[in-house]
Amino acid sequence: KPLGVTETEVSPASLASLYEEDFKQDMAALKVLPPTVYLRVTENIPQIISFIEGIIARGYAYPTVKGNVYFDLQSRGDKYGRLVGVAPGPAGEPGDSDKRHASDFALWKAAKPQEVFWASPWGNGRPGWHIECSAMASMVFGGQLDIHSGGMDLVFPHHENEIAQCEVFHQCEQWGNYFLHSGHLHIKGKEEKMSKSLKNYITIKDFLQTFSPEVFRLFCMCSSYRSAIDYCDSTMLEARQLLLGLASFVEDARAYVKGQLICDPVKEDMLWERLTSTKEAVKAALADDFDTPRAIGTILDLVHHGNRQLRAVTKEPGGPRSPAVFGAIVSYIEQFFETVGISLVKQQCISGDSSVATLHSVVDELVRFRLKVRQYALTTPEAAGDARRQLLLERRPLLEACDALRQDLATHGISIKDRSSTISTWELLDPRTKHQKPGS
Ligand SMILES: [Zn+2]
Repeated sequence: KPLGVTETEVSPASLASLYEEDFKQDMAALKVLPPTVYLRVTENIPQIISFIEGIIARGYAYPTVKGNVYFDLQSRGDKYGRLVGVAPGPAGEPGDSDKRHASDFALWKAAKPQEVFWASPWGNGRPGWHIECSAMASMVFGGQLDIHSGGMDLVFPHHENEIAQCEVFHQCEQWGNYFLHSGHLHIKGKEEKMSKSLKNYITIKDFLQTFSPEVFRLFCMCSSYRSAIDYCDSTMLEARQLLLGLASFVEDARAYVKGQLICDPVKEDMLWERLTSTKEAVKAALADDFDTPRAIGTILDLVHHGNRQLRAVTKEPGGPRSPAVFGAIVSYIEQFFETVGISLVKQQCISGDSSVATLHSVVDELVRFRLKVRQYALTTPEAAGDARRQLLLERRPLLEACDALRQDLATHGISIKDRSSTISTWELLDPRTKHQKPGS
């Protein structure tokens, strides 16, 4: 009872709209873009009825005296079953004695007591499950679909029946060009897919308390859309680490481009080649039935090579720099992840909560400011003798203030580490939001 209502207290229509709103909120929280159009069966009953009439008129369906309408599978011949590869055996519904053949499926079902119903040429009743999709998809897209998607469990009978209905209604050879069927999300260790009736689920709202929507996206992209995936905290934590790694690279590469991260000269030609081959490999992977795990793996490889070149050194070598290649790599990686709805802004990777993002920015600024003060305090003055001693003495309170700030922030769970006179990093002591960042 996630909404605090029982099915008997409210009308089916208002119950449906409660769940609809809840669903829309969950999708928005997961950063799933809304569709161009929402269609409700209850608002399209006349169109569904006329679609059924069209199928009857073309000779592929028949009404019965009991007020049911069935699709006549015999009339479809061997075209039925092409989606699953084999023509399935009869899947008769028990007690439906008014069918001509056991495997004929319902387009319209006569009303049973206590059921919601609508008036139709065949008496009071309601549409069958499959006809709803065929009729409404045809209203929006006409007689042909390019891509049709759905879960693995919908291949048969649902999509097979949608195809049968549409191909006879539109009198076409092939209604849909491509069917993409996605695998189910399982709770690790359970055979069944997540479902409310099996009580083996985690709600999207609960999930988002701990993980960001981008972590979930990356988790999904790390396996093929066709395969079943196991939900468990450890795989989710792995996805988060992966995302943080990507974000760290982007951050470091940007710092390098800006001249804030100093490192030895990089192998620029190698990186340009890697970038070009990565772009080609990612394109090829996505063109191969959306092979997202391969695409992600290729990008991680590029990041690995980029990171190896960026290993910072503390002294200033003053050698040649290669900001252009890192600029190009960052913009390619960011564009790729933007396309798939993943932001690589570090704060967002950790949590969708904007107050956390603000806190991280504030600590960043604070650590940067402290580093400047500390650098100044530690710089050896050019003066000599007593004058030098005097200067160091005067700057000592600055160093003491830096140390005090470090200790004070530690009590708030923020740990600042001075790695050298020019580099300070910080991290949260809470392992769930642990994160490192160069302070200069
Ligand atoms: Zn459907």
